[in-house]
Amino acid sequence: MNKIIITIDGWSSCGKSTLAKQLAKALGYVYIDSGAMYRAITLYFLRNHIDWTDENQTQNALKNIDLKFVHNTKSLQSDMHLNDENVEYFIRDLVVAEKVSEVATIASVRTFAVDQQQKMGIEKGIVMDGRDIGTTVFPDAELKLFMTAEILVRVERRFKEMYDKNPNVTIDEVKANLEMRDYIDSNREVSPLRKAVDAILLDNTNLSMEEQLDIALKLVAKKL
Ligand code: C5P
Repeated sequence: MNKIIITIDGWSSCGKSTLAKQLAKALGYVYIDSGAMYRAITLYFLRNHIDWTDENQTQNALKNIDLKFVHNTKSLQSDMHLNDENVEYFIRDLVVAEKVSEVATIASVRTFAVDQQQKMGIEKGIVMDGRDIGTTVFPDAELKLFMTAEILVRVERRFKEMYDKNPNVTIDEVKANLEMRDYIDSNREVSPLRKAVDAILLDNTNLSMEEQLDIALKLVAKKL
């Protein structure tokens, strides 16, 4: 059967990765979490005290960053590895979430990530989620989804995820972080978060996981 590229863009914490994983599993496709790459780059910059407003420092630092998705045999998901270290746990921290959108505004950082993402799609059979996947990374993708959900629903979902790891996190902190990232992501100069003109809008505020998968699979079937 023909393999296609599926892109899922949208606001922070509106369930993009959940749907992308569901689709990849149902179709036997590869799932790529492009946000994990920006998060790992941010983690490297923070750990190594890189001033990302200095283009020289940023370009030199990028030369020392190797990113890989590695299959985890326990969770059956793929983990982000930064220079051969599994950093999946650290990149989900609020410390990284507070800086990642700033780092993701930088043109050289985006070129670094987008080049690698485009290579991952050469053979198709891929579901990638992010902010610029349908607009910049795969503008010719066969199926583009743009996801949204009401802000309070998104805050609640992310809060639950973060609270399990860190019970000190507050709902206000999570809400402020989502709103800040959405603002920076949709107002940056390079590849701002936009719905591609040919993307299909999917609001999952009132959808169960099964319902959203069902809708998406019907859209996929039309493209195959
Ligand atoms: O998807 P996730 O919330 O993990 O992404 C973290 C951040 O990475 C986003 O808020 C955004 O700033 C950046 N990002 C991006 N382009 C992508 C994916 C993520 O700028 N394709």
